[in-house]
Amino acid sequence: MTDGPKYGFDTLQIHAGARPDPATGARQTPIYQSTAFVFRDAEHAAALFNLQEVGYIYSRLTNPTVAVLQERIATLEGGAGAVCCSSGHAAQIMALFPLMAPGLNVVVSTRLYGGTITQFGQTIKRFGWEATFVDFDDLDAVKAAINDKTRAVFCEAIANPGGYITDLDAISAIADEAEIPLVVDNTSATPYLCRPIEHGATLVVHSTTKYLTGNGTVTGGCVVDSGTFDWSANDKFPSLSQPEPAYHGLKFHETFGPLAFTFHGIAIGLRDLGMTMNPQAAHYTLMGTETLSLRMDRHVENAVKIAGWLEKDDRVDYVTYAGLKSSPYFDRVKKICPRGAGGLFTFAVKGGYDACVKLVNALEIFSHVANLGDARSLIIHSASTTHRQLTEEQQRAAGAAPEVVRVSIGIEDADDLIADLDQALSKATS
Ligand SMILES: *Cc1c(COP(=O)(O)O)cnc(C)c1O
Repeated sequence: MTDGPKYGFDTLQIHAGARPDPATGARQTPIYQSTAFVFRDAEHAAALFNLQEVGYIYSRLTNPTVAVLQERIATLEGGAGAVCCSSGHAAQIMALFPLMAPGLNVVVSTRLYGGTITQFGQTIKRFGWEATFVDFDDLDAVKAAINDKTRAVFCEAIANPGGYITDLDAISAIADEAEIPLVVDNTSATPYLCRPIEHGATLVVHSTTKYLTGNGTVTGGCVVDSGTFDWSANDKFPSLSQPEPAYHGLKFHETFGPLAFTFHGIAIGLRDLGMTMNPQAAHYTLMGTETLSLRMDRHVENAVKIAGWLEKDDRVDYVTYAGLKSSPYFDRVKKICPRGAGGLFTFAVKGGYDACVKLVNALEIFSHVANLGDARSLIIHSASTTHRQLTEEQQRAAGAAPEVVRVSIGIEDADDLIADLDQALSKATS
């Protein structure tokens, strides 16, 4: 079942991409734990290798279990196609790979997951790619940062770590004018809370490790293509518009139209970079997607209660949750993620860095981990962990100042979470 518009989100999160197994009738999607798939005959093999026929060859490229997840996430995001890969960070490289080349740059938000700041700020330089970091609330600065070597604009819909909301409509208008794609990391929002493609995004990337799986079991990533970008409008994207030597001069955009990016991601990206999702991981994530909307509703409900409670507590200086009326992002929530501002935010503890460290140590239900989007509540002091490599100025720009902790509110009883925070705040600030 693949029809997007006909069915509601709750139906699609269970059924999209899945069908009873043709060999056995199995109702749940089997884990196709097989590296290779037998060709019907030599002609079939040749057609598959020439990309003239779609089918399974080898699990580095495609696997039936992973394919169900790809179709499901593409449907939930309202995209034309999707490619799953081994992690969220792999998805980010897979998204940029067809667009970039040595000497080219990507304009990115300063408010990103800590690992993404390192990946873009340091590691991609080794490919000769450059990232220009800009405050995405300053639209003139975003415009000014784009030059003739820019090939993409990148931000998070609900941005780490403060749960800030990016004005995707305004950013996509800027990207459109520059004729370059907007890539949105929708990990913290999920397609239940935000659908970036409806706000003009060309590509959506996910760390499926987080809410899509929802139980902290497997790492994974996904790149969804809207299918709407004209890769041949100019000569900026030769990987998609020009003849590909590895496929006898095949032109991906001309041949595959709205599926060009997806086919390139499999035929070139996964084939040559090898950042493949394994079928076991796809299985766990498929299980997670079935309950996504139910979990997200509870994450939001709990986050609203807990952020509201923290905001009134005099041991706390401020709370960044966009779902609070006091947040400067409150109005943007209605436009960008009308079902709620997610489960992620930061709060500042009176007593600064040391009080934050004590708080993290004193909590009993909240786990101190470098993860988010789990069913269980999580906390991290970013300045001493994920954002440790950054200068204090960079930490503040990223929303990870030394006096704040980041929480990922789980789906437990809100009252229990509040009681846990209450006792730990007492220990941290006494
Ligand atoms: C976790 C995360 C990533 C990286 O994903 P991995 O699966 O850990 O590689 C990227 N972006 C966001 C917003 C994340 O939360």
